[in-house]
Amino acid sequence: MTQLNKAAMQHNLHPFSNNQELIDKGVRVIERGEGIYIYDTDGNKIIDGMSGLWCTNIGYGRTELSDVAKAQMDKLAYYNTFFQTSNTAVIALANKLAEVTPSQYNHVFFTGSGSESCDSMIRLVRHYWRSVGKPQKKILIGRWNGYHGSTIGGTSMGGMKSMHEQGDLPIANITHIEQPAYYELHEAGETPEAFGLKAANWLEEKILEVGADNVAAFVAEPIQGAGGVIIPPSTYWPRIQEICRQYDVLIVSDEVICGFGRTGNWFGFETFGFEPDIFTFAKGVTSGYQPLGGVMLSDRVAAGVLQGGELQHGFTYSGHPVTSAVALKNLEILQEEQIVERVRDDIAPYFQQRWQETFAPFAHADDVRGCGMIASFKVVKAKGEPFSDPARAGSLCKDIFFGNNLIFRSTVDNIICAPPLVITKAEIDEMLALAAKSLAEFEQNVV
Ligand code: PLP
Repeated sequence: MTQLNKAAMQHNLHPFSNNQELIDKGVRVIERGEGIYIYDTDGNKIIDGMSGLWCTNIGYGRTELSDVAKAQMDKLAYYNTFFQTSNTAVIALANKLAEVTPSQYNHVFFTGSGSESCDSMIRLVRHYWRSVGKPQKKILIGRWNGYHGSTIGGTSMGGMKSMHEQGDLPIANITHIEQPAYYELHEAGETPEAFGLKAANWLEEKILEVGADNVAAFVAEPIQGAGGVIIPPSTYWPRIQEICRQYDVLIVSDEVICGFGRTGNWFGFETFGFEPDIFTFAKGVTSGYQPLGGVMLSDRVAAGVLQGGELQHGFTYSGHPVTSAVALKNLEILQEEQIVERVRDDIAPYFQQRWQETFAPFAHADDVRGCGMIASFKVVKAKGEPFSDPARAGSLCKDIFFGNNLIFRSTVDNIICAPPLVITKAEIDEMLALAAKSLAEFEQNVV
């Protein structure tokens, strides 16, 4: 371990890490990125199969983004949007978001991250129902194993039990239903389509249990990302939408991972065929080059919020000119280079086909699956048979990949890949060849 690897842990507590363990083991220090590759201070070239944290959609090293950041900083490094003021960058970004989203989304509230977006969403949902004269509609329904960030609201809205335990959460009036996890939860002989309807109906059962008059919103990711890439059957979201409309419950789509091209459309709700009343976003809006997020409102919800008087909510960095300028440039690149269309028509079909071909033949890979530029498989003892300690198996497998300079992620026994959207076919082949070699190593050394 070098001095720098050790120094990294001397004063800095790392998120979602066993910090005591890392103090002993050290960490890799990443110093540079280019395309799909990152480079550490020990001289290793690493394939970033996770786009950082599902965010560097246009890849690393796009100097157009640093150019606009510098130009904006030189001109106006900061001003707020509280004092009857705005700035040209945030005006342009809000216009661009109204342009790239379907026609009913015309109002956005800006934040600094996905977690802040989910917290803001909770505030806006409750504010909306008060404004339209139904203040008793307070309960938000999320899903077990969903992830909506790490703030108190986001953690409560998410369904990660270990996070709830550590933070004494959730807060009041947030409850959860089971996730549409076909592999884990289906009954013998049940088709994915039948399971999808059954899983959606768990929402109706919950609404009836707590009383429809008390339910404000259903909140979910189109694909549960951090929870292990849970891709719902095609019947799931249309039935969810039907239920929400029937009981006058708002649909909130958390697009923090799925937004801005990840699933082959601009937004995950387009891929899964539903129209949320509100959606949250972050990550891909700047390709991770700057911290920025937001909450986008449909015209119906915006009208309610606008009639509700002063909005008692906001952040110092809501509408920050530099992050806004960077986001705008990123969205222009997505448009001009037709990156979303390329994902949908060309690169995602290739990626998914090669993912299947690579992992399905392995005895220790099961539930090989994916959508757009997200893919996963379960590392198992044998097909249909999990390891006795699935999380340990997943973590050991991921460590072998990492040791081979390939970043995939593990959630329990799910091995996850979500590369930059600009990855080429040759780079997909290179990445999957290294992944296959790494999985073979896992099988030889661990199983
Ligand atoms: N929502 C979803 C779906 C996420 O995946 C994440 C982060 O991974 C968040 C919210 C929180 O975003 P942030 O880490 O920017 O606060």
